Amino acid sequence: MQSINPATGQIIQSFSIWQAEEIDAVLKHVESAQIEWSAFNFAQRSCLMHNLAQIFRQRSEEYANLITEEMGKLLKEARAEIEKCAIGCEHYANQAEFYLRDEIIASDASRSLVVYQPLGTVLCIMPWNFPFWQLIRAAAPAMMAGNTIVLKHASNVPRCALALEDAFRQAGFPEHAFRTLMVSAEQVQAVIADRSIAAVTLTGSSTAGRKVAAIAGQHLKKCVLELGGSDPFIVLDDADIESTAQQALVARLQNMGQSCIAAKRFILIDTIADAFVEQLSILFSRLQIGDPKHEATGIAPMAREDLRNELHEQVERSLAAGAKLVSGGTVTGTGIQGSYYAPTILDHVRPGMAAFDEELFGPVAAIVRVKDTDDAIRLANQTQFGLGGSVWTRNTARGEELARQIHAGSVFVNGIVRSDARLPFGGIKESGYGRELSYHGIREFVNIKTVWIK
Ligand code: NAP
Repeated sequence: MQSINPATGQIIQSFSIWQAEEIDAVLKHVESAQIEWSAFNFAQRSCLMHNLAQIFRQRSEEYANLITEEMGKLLKEARAEIEKCAIGCEHYANQAEFYLRDEIIASDASRSLVVYQPLGTVLCIMPWNFPFWQLIRAAAPAMMAGNTIVLKHASNVPRCALALEDAFRQAGFPEHAFRTLMVSAEQVQAVIADRSIAAVTLTGSSTAGRKVAAIAGQHLKKCVLELGGSDPFIVLDDADIESTAQQALVARLQNMGQSCIAAKRFILIDTIADAFVEQLSILFSRLQIGDPKHEATGIAPMAREDLRNELHEQVERSLAAGAKLVSGGTVTGTGIQGSYYAPTILDHVRPGMAAFDEELFGPVAAIVRVKDTDDAIRLANQTQFGLGGSVWTRNTARGEELARQIHAGSVFVNGIVRSDARLPFGGIKESGYGRELSYHGIREFVNIKTVWIK
């Protein structure tokens, strides 16, 4: 496993992948730790979760630099990610007891109630794009519910994976309540099958989701899947073009476009399409490519060279199928080692093109022109994904009406799709199943137990 700086192509550190004996030993420790951890009451768990939030804030600069060096995002975005982790920990530290309170329900019993109890050890299989936040949003609720965690992180962020384990230890959690496994994707099958694992959560591609769900299914283990997306960003003819284009820039280019909920298909009503595309290309052209640690840099590298090359190939296939190149479309920086890609706008994208049918996980905006709102909704829903979506209009009542018609786990009106610990997050169709965050998230990895007393 190698940690490679995508801004320079240099190998920072290499790690050996664990052998079966090492994995077994850790799984046994985590299983025993779960008995100890589940005996902690909510106040005790909450205290440690607050400690963890504090550690994120105290060591923010160190962790943010680690993220940027390992997967390339802008340092300012990495700092914001660490702050989001602190907020996520605090949310569950404060709310878990309320979210999991006993529910008394009237029935034919003299007393009947629902109690929420931990399942055991949850395996978290995580992606590199938000290497701290993706893990925290899965682990904080699961641990507050009394579960222990083993993490299989993406192979290109091993140092983040180890830093997370260290943060839990520093916060005072029991020694083996949270452990990182240094394993490859191929070794995951045996981990899921291990009797110490009660459930699995995966955030990643739909391809990985299918494989992990099949293995979890074979072993009858609960599974939550947070997978890819191709979110529509629908601009109606009454929207303010300038401010909406500014939001479109952020929605597409945040994290260098490597976000599951990044806006990927910009669906524009014909009458405003030219003005919108012109405005967006002006904004794209102002961004400077450079060192992700520099404040002035707008275009950071993508996380890995192979991912950048794959994106370029999707752009080329879309152009060959008839899309029009407005800007970008090139691997930038001849002589630069890093995995940079020019911010790209593809116009006249239609179903049947890669830019419409597939997930574009990088800085490429696909423009889809439509004649009216019915057409916009039809095309928004013409995808195998169903993660997020947004509608931009001055008429918020109309916006809400359209939001209800979009087939996705979340739709925002006049706002960029984002996760918020207070609101449920997840997808439908090939974007996965189950929910993270809010009380829905903490109730995924619990035994919802009925107690009936005569
Ligand atoms: P990925 O290639 O699917 O990898 C995600 C994780 O799954 C990694 O830890 C990876 O390990 C592991 N993995 C891959 N194949 C596996 C297999 N057959 N069995 C077990 N584990 C396997 O995805 P990525 O490139 O890291 O992340 C990008 C994708 O994640 C995008 O599609 C994006 O939309 C999606 N995503 C979704 C959400 C959401 O909340 N819905 C959030 C963020 C990202 P290795 O690294 O060792 O291969």
